Amino acid sequence: MPKIPLIDVKAQFAPLVDELRAGFEEVLESGQFILGPNVKAFESEAAAHLGVAQSIGCGNGTDAITLVLSALGVGPGDEVICPAFTFYATAEPIALLGATPVFADIERETMNIDPADVARKITPRTKAIIPVHLFGRPAKIDELKVHGLPVIEDAAQAFGGGDVAKKGIAATFSFFPTKNLFCLGDGGLVATNDEELAARVRMLRFHGSRDKKTFEYVGYNSRLDEMQAAFLRVFLGHIARWNELRREGAARYAELGLGELVELPKDEPGHVYHLFCTRSPERDKFRDGLAAAGIGHACHYVIPLHLQPSMAHLGYKEGDLPETELAARENLCVPLWAGIAPEQQERVVATLQDAVATPVA
Ligand SMILES: *Cc1c(COP(=O)(O)O)cnc(C)c1O
Repeated sequence: MPKIPLIDVKAQFAPLVDELRAGFEEVLESGQFILGPNVKAFESEAAAHLGVAQSIGCGNGTDAITLVLSALGVGPGDEVICPAFTFYATAEPIALLGATPVFADIERETMNIDPADVARKITPRTKAIIPVHLFGRPAKIDELKVHGLPVIEDAAQAFGGGDVAKKGIAATFSFFPTKNLFCLGDGGLVATNDEELAARVRMLRFHGSRDKKTFEYVGYNSRLDEMQAAFLRVFLGHIARWNELRREGAARYAELGLGELVELPKDEPGHVYHLFCTRSPERDKFRDGLAAAGIGHACHYVIPLHLQPSMAHLGYKEGDLPETELAARENLCVPLWAGIAPEQQERVVATLQDAVATPVA
């Protein structure tokens, strides 16, 4: 039996190879490789697609968060609230800027940050809130905005989903090759309707300079390559359809009866299923079944951020974020990408059915 990957990136871009080659050759011919016409064009095309005024390309999704926090003046003595059930890069920029990550628990049903727990964790030092649209499911931004603090949407997993990027002060994206919108290397983007913030982020990505002569801030070197921008312009034309295909794949798992074995992610209109993340108290049994059958899978954030060694100085202990810790034990992502074949999904479900039938050794 052929293996089934968790995400087949190559299958997604294979039909576009000629267009990608044309983009590559055009950039090669131009001799301009950093912050040129493709970056500029991609920035305005991405802003239009997201329905925001400004977007700024940068080196990766982690830098996108760093640039926004830095532009907002976050630093030592400040607290920033974020979930602990997310990729490490959501919290790392907070700590790197000398501020304190404050971890809020997640909601049982959505696995996104719990607005009620955020409300409990706000102090006079809170400078911002970073919700994550985890696995492509839009987080509850309106409920977080009531506190009057800047809400930065970590949208690394949710390009094109629902109202993503429209409600927070800024949204940050990653174009790491497995994300919904991706490039063929590293890339990132900040999207915002705040012109002042946009101007500052634009400077910070180039050493805090507007004109490459005067340096107004101590900034970063975090730019998007022309080559990656050329690829992104090709992929941007397909993201709406790709997200639709992911949604169709998700619906198919439900039709195939996967919900009788594990808990399925609850659907909602703006969900773009970066990953199809199921849950089960018997997660390990299902995981082992997929592994034995050569089927790609992932158990995410098994050590949630509040329990990471690099965060030990913050003083969290096991039991502090019960829903986060439960999700870490129960989650199991199964194969999904834009264009996964129905037969591949049938095999995933059949393998999980077998895992139920197999007595525990
Ligand atoms: C991928 C990811 C990032 C970081 O993006 P990079 O481009 O790898 O730096 C940040 N947050 C979340 C939730 C992610 O999934």
